[in-house]
Amino acid sequence: MRIKILGSAAGGGFPQWNCGCRNCNGVRDGSIRARPRTQTQIALEANPEYTLRTHWTLIGASPDLRSQIVADPDLRPFRHTNSSTPIYDVFLTSADVDSLMGLLHLREFQTFKIFSLPAVRRILAEENSIFRVLARAQPAVQWFSIPLASHAAWPKPLESHEPPRLICRAVSLGGEYPDFVGEKLRRELPPEEAVVGLALEYREKRLFIAPSLSGRNPQWKKWVESCDLVLIDGTFWSDDELIQQGRGKKTARQMGHLPLAGPAGLLEQYPYESRARKILIHINNTNPVLDEQSAQHRAVLAAGFEIAYDGMELTL
Ligand SMILES: [Zn+2]
Repeated sequence: MRIKILGSAAGGGFPQWNCGCRNCNGVRDGSIRARPRTQTQIALEANPEYTLRTHWTLIGASPDLRSQIVADPDLRPFRHTNSSTPIYDVFLTSADVDSLMGLLHLREFQTFKIFSLPAVRRILAEENSIFRVLARAQPAVQWFSIPLASHAAWPKPLESHEPPRLICRAVSLGGEYPDFVGEKLRRELPPEEAVVGLALEYREKRLFIAPSLSGRNPQWKKWVESCDLVLIDGTFWSDDELIQQGRGKKTARQMGHLPLAGPAGLLEQYPYESRARKILIHINNTNPVLDEQSAQHRAVLAAGFEIAYDGMELTL
């Protein structure tokens, strides 16, 4: 499985258009050592046996998706076709604007599959009619449900004669539905479907993806322990980061993100036993780890984490 990080920042990107924080100003004027980043977008190449063509899966659909696809030669239409794409499917982890707005970039009469929890589909279908543009393709974009795992167990291994395929489980992470979801619908939706992580397996290699980890449901730790690679929430360094910088009134935890530092933060809670390669993703522009000369940057590296950047490529 090949994994590409097409975007690694949280919502707003880095720098964010209207943000004058130390990091955003610093990356604009070159006074800090940091890389600009687009909004979080992951792509996986996991080819099923039935096709000789490359087969890419998008994890999330970022607001920057059009430019992220255009910038990557692997995601161009197949040669000698008038209309095609190696992108076959999109897996959604929540109904957050930053994780699905990019679906609108994929509206150009292209058929593909969307995998999500039923709640995310209902939010788009019942309250956000603009997403009906996806139904204009012939045949229309198809929706499928991702099975929600009740406990940390991988499906049984494939028999040797079975073709390789991408296996996915959704892991409830205990987050909340976005503010834009109407009261009536919100009351009907199951809380466990609001924000999920994805446990993916392909050719016996396992990957766990959780760009929004509230920490309210400890189930994620079990999955992390059984994976080879983990892409996990690096949104905020400290719980009061936005308040300190005058950029918001909510704490990281109130926004559904476990901060990296502090008591019971991600660095402290991360399973000690895990041998998986661990990479922070979805990094907010205010996070001091973005400054490559900061003490916080050094601290996460010393704790064994890597920090995702746009263009990072991984193989499993
Ligand atoms: Zn900023």
